Amino acid sequence: MTDRAVATLQALVRIPSISDRDPARVDVAAFDRLHQELRAQFPLVHERLELTRVGTHGLLFRWRGRATDKPLVLMAHLDVVPVDESSPWQHPPFAAEVVDGAVWGRGTLDDKGCVAAICEAVERLLEVGHVPAQDVWLSLGCDEEVFGTAAAAAVDDLERRGVRPWLVLDEGGAVAHEAFPGMKRPVAAVGVAEKGATSVLLRVEGRGGHASTPARNGPTVRLARAILRIDRSPMPARVPVTTVEMMRRLAPHLPLPLRPVLSRADRLGPLLPRALTAAGPEAAAMARTTFAVTTLEGGPALNVIATSATAGVNIRVMPGDTVDDVLIHLRKIVDDPEVRISVVERGEASAVSPVDDAFDHLAGLITDHFPDAVVTPYVQTGATDSRHFARISDHVYRFAPFRMTAAQRRSVHSYDEHLGLEAFLAGIDWYQALIERLPE
Ligand SMILES: [Zn+2]
Repeated sequence: MTDRAVATLQALVRIPSISDRDPARVDVAAFDRLHQELRAQFPLVHERLELTRVGTHGLLFRWRGRATDKPLVLMAHLDVVPVDESSPWQHPPFAAEVVDGAVWGRGTLDDKGCVAAICEAVERLLEVGHVPAQDVWLSLGCDEEVFGTAAAAAVDDLERRGVRPWLVLDEGGAVAHEAFPGMKRPVAAVGVAEKGATSVLLRVEGRGGHASTPARNGPTVRLARAILRIDRSPMPARVPVTTVEMMRRLAPHLPLPLRPVLSRADRLGPLLPRALTAAGPEAAAMARTTFAVTTLEGGPALNVIATSATAGVNIRVMPGDTVDDVLIHLRKIVDDPEVRISVVERGEASAVSPVDDAFDHLAGLITDHFPDAVVTPYVQTGATDSRHFARISDHVYRFAPFRMTAAQRRSVHSYDEHLGLEAFLAGIDWYQALIERLPE
């Protein structure tokens, strides 16, 4: 049983199902092979569940339960990000070697570990003839990493059928070891919201000309001034209630100087956002909408004055702010009508799912399986496919039931990605328990 599950994960990781914003660059055959592999590895899932194909290679399975009033949606994605050939992987990224008690390779953590664990949990339950108390839907996307449309198409399908999920669970948080300096216990962080990913372009146009006779205040200079203004005037910091709740839950387990301060996080007022923004980029990202100037373009040659200069700005929108709020802020601080600001990609922050009985149900299951972990809600900075599900459910949570070290979390989208065998097997058990304990 154990060996089978690990072999399954290895088989999935060996297929380089890399998504791309340009459909012409996607290796369609790899995704077809991945579907074949899933059929071969999980025969009962494919025999007993109803399958709808969504988008190019997204899969939506329905497992009929005894009731349909509190359906569960388990999400994961089949695609992975590309591998930077120059990065120093200790083990080849698509070989899925088992070394030092872990499977190594692209997608082990993001997100084929979840795909394999979810399907294995369902396959095991089907083997023993289990019928879930509620309908269970498996939504496996194929273009999560490129902000594709498969997950939205799955939501369209569910909406047409009138499905209102009681709980939606996607990737996001994990049982994070070494989550905070000085914290000895792992933190089981369950994402209740995610920041929105938005990109804008700043563009200044001018007359160009020969670099030997420059006019003052040309496009590149105005653009540089705008960038500096953005860097100096971030959006106001504000700590969402979710983060205050997280601090309250973590405080008793933190080292002494922090403990009494954070246990009163709700009464710190403006001190808390100020402390977070001063505590480094990760903490600051938890307290405000962030701006990162990512791309710059100017003249075509060293001796040619640019007729236009552009800068790309990647923005992560905090729940509570809207993209329109951000644009108003940008126009105000840039304060230059010559700098045109246009939205390239508009991603609003997600809704915030409540910390209520559905959350407590998850938290209880986490505590049963990971008794050393401190469970907490949090606002995640990365985007997931689950954001589309807010349309049909108030209870969208982001958590993968795997133990991960800080090094493992850094390896996501980077190199040396690996998932511990024990962690993987414990994750299968956790998904199985989640299905077995669905409410009547
Ligand atoms: Zn992912």
